[in-house]
Amino acid sequence: MIIEAAAVPSETTLTADVCIVGGGAVGISLALALLEAGVDVLLLESGNDAQDAATQDLYAGTVADERLHSPPDRYRQRRFGGSTTIWGGRCMPFDPIDFQPRDFIAHSGWPIDYRDVLPFYPEANRLCEAGDFAYTVETAFPQPVRELIAGLPADSAFSSNTLERFSCPTDFGKRYRQRLAQGDARVVLGANVGTMYLDPAGRRLRALDVRTLGGNRFRVQARRYVLAAGGLETARLLLASPGASGRGIGNAHDVVGRYYMCHLAGTIGTLDLTPAASVWHGYEISDDGVYCRRRLALRPAVQQRLRVGNFIARLHHPRLTDPAHRTGVLSLLCLAGPFIPYEYAKRLTGGEPATWRTWLTHAGNVLSDIPGITAFLWHWLRHRTLAERKFPSVVVYPRAPRYSLDFHAEQEPNPDSRVTLEHGSADALGMPRLRVDWRHTRQDVRTVQAALAVLAHDVAEAGLGRFLYDPAGVEHEMIRYGAYGGHHIGTARMGADPRSSVVDANCRVHEVDNLYVAGSAVFPTSSQANPTLTAVALALRLAAHLSRQRAWSASRWQARNFRRQEGR
Ligand SMILES: Cc1cc2nc3c(=O)[nH]c(=O)nc-3n(C[C@H](O)[C@H](O)[C@H](O)COP(=O)(O)OP(=O)(O)OC[C@H]3O[C@@H](n4cnc5c(N)ncnc54)[C@H](O)[C@@H]3O)c2cc1C
Repeated sequence: MIIEAAAVPSETTLTADVCIVGGGAVGISLALALLEAGVDVLLLESGNDAQDAATQDLYAGTVADERLHSPPDRYRQRRFGGSTTIWGGRCMPFDPIDFQPRDFIAHSGWPIDYRDVLPFYPEANRLCEAGDFAYTVETAFPQPVRELIAGLPADSAFSSNTLERFSCPTDFGKRYRQRLAQGDARVVLGANVGTMYLDPAGRRLRALDVRTLGGNRFRVQARRYVLAAGGLETARLLLASPGASGRGIGNAHDVVGRYYMCHLAGTIGTLDLTPAASVWHGYEISDDGVYCRRRLALRPAVQQRLRVGNFIARLHHPRLTDPAHRTGVLSLLCLAGPFIPYEYAKRLTGGEPATWRTWLTHAGNVLSDIPGITAFLWHWLRHRTLAERKFPSVVVYPRAPRYSLDFHAEQEPNPDSRVTLEHGSADALGMPRLRVDWRHTRQDVRTVQAALAVLAHDVAEAGLGRFLYDPAGVEHEMIRYGAYGGHHIGTARMGADPRSSVVDANCRVHEVDNLYVAGSAVFPTSSQANPTLTAVALALRLAAHLSRQRAWSASRWQARNFRRQEGR
């Protein structure tokens, strides 16, 4: 059943076994799994099916440095389906090394390991509509496929057989609306959770205050609560209620909002391969019809040897904004920048201010490549605009085997990289707004520098060509567009010690017996991998935990009742 918060009688109390706050990929996956297990679920979602400006404005806040991090109402969507209404759909699991404590990555190590999450990845993959959980060439394709770069030696620091798989990209709100509407769950749209109330002892959450932008107000009481409001908003919700410590719920040790990570990403250098080098650039389609892409992944043993974080790189086209690429399609995209949504334009066409001369050169590139552009537009129309499963990104085949590298690297957890409340500035519902102060560390720079250096070495050593880049410019490139948008990680990190973490291995807030967090907020480290698949897998793991708990307490209740009936 899906209802509007405006229709809930004012000042009443809704009750449930599990109340989920947030209807994005994570909240929806959790709700579906709990429904399947027969748990009574109430999902509160701030937004509606479509985006509206007043609701989106509840996400507005400030940033310490806008060059380093976009304003918090960008790269997030406050509506049913959350940010999957605009995501790119790139899916891949974390690697086993990501869960391990590494003495060269400060604050690394999860209280669970890869094997704890693995059983939930296949179902997460299905929910993301990324096909089978098969992330190597060998498991995904029955027949051999062309090598990414033929001749890259088997003992290279980089493997080239791992895959990214692409979701449709699935908008979780649209895709699963029907299932939720028909099931026993109650989904309340337009329901903004504000203050969370604890019992007098401060150990249990007693109720949530829910408000609509139209002025309606009611309460929710549940046996268990799960915050699935996204990596930034979950921290805001915890900090905005005083809790037993007076510093925010779960924040007795001042950990909520700290260790905030995104990913380090950039496009760098020129991989100039010899004309004889055989390269596969672009997407493969798996037997289950999913677009897949290979990348160069820094092997775990090499990460250990170099004492750096996780790192991958993909072959990429040259930077769009520099018309020296002389490629009509890339120049066309650059000229179309003002029509591309902010979240995609920023990395495609943002950066250097363009001069008239640059614009004219781009226009010249376009005019000299009308057949190439026509073919591109036709392909885009058929395989992107009109297709249900969309071609994931622009791929331009260069005339010579010359590429730039698009890298995506792990960011080290850093307590000084944090989100806090902006006291004195409140949203339309009176909630303090968020302030984001994202920072990177020397180790982050080392990770990218070391990985690129070893790649340049391996390419030259194998006689494949040259990877030319400016080692002194690596840091500039890493932060040219600031933190990688949309990946909000670590603000309510998982750990065994309440002094350095917010939730335990079951995602339960250390200080509160019946409050849980789901989503990338709980990741203690960020991996090289995009976060959503792992966030959904962890949500399914949480669903299993909550369902077991329910079965356990139901049998305890039955036993107690039985004893009563027996007069014992
Ligand atoms: C442009 C872009 C591209 C991306 N591409 C990828 C990609 O290729 N691969 C990948 O893995 N990830 C990608 N991401 C990240 C991905 O979108 C997120 O990881 C994922 O959507 C997070 O899901 P979530 O459910 O945890 O949070 P959200 O999607 O943020 O959902 C949280 C929900 O909570 C609701 N909410 C918030 N506050 C309240 C409140 N107070 N009361 C009630 N409800 C509330 C919101 O309205 C929202 O619906 C991308 C993100 C962006 C922006």
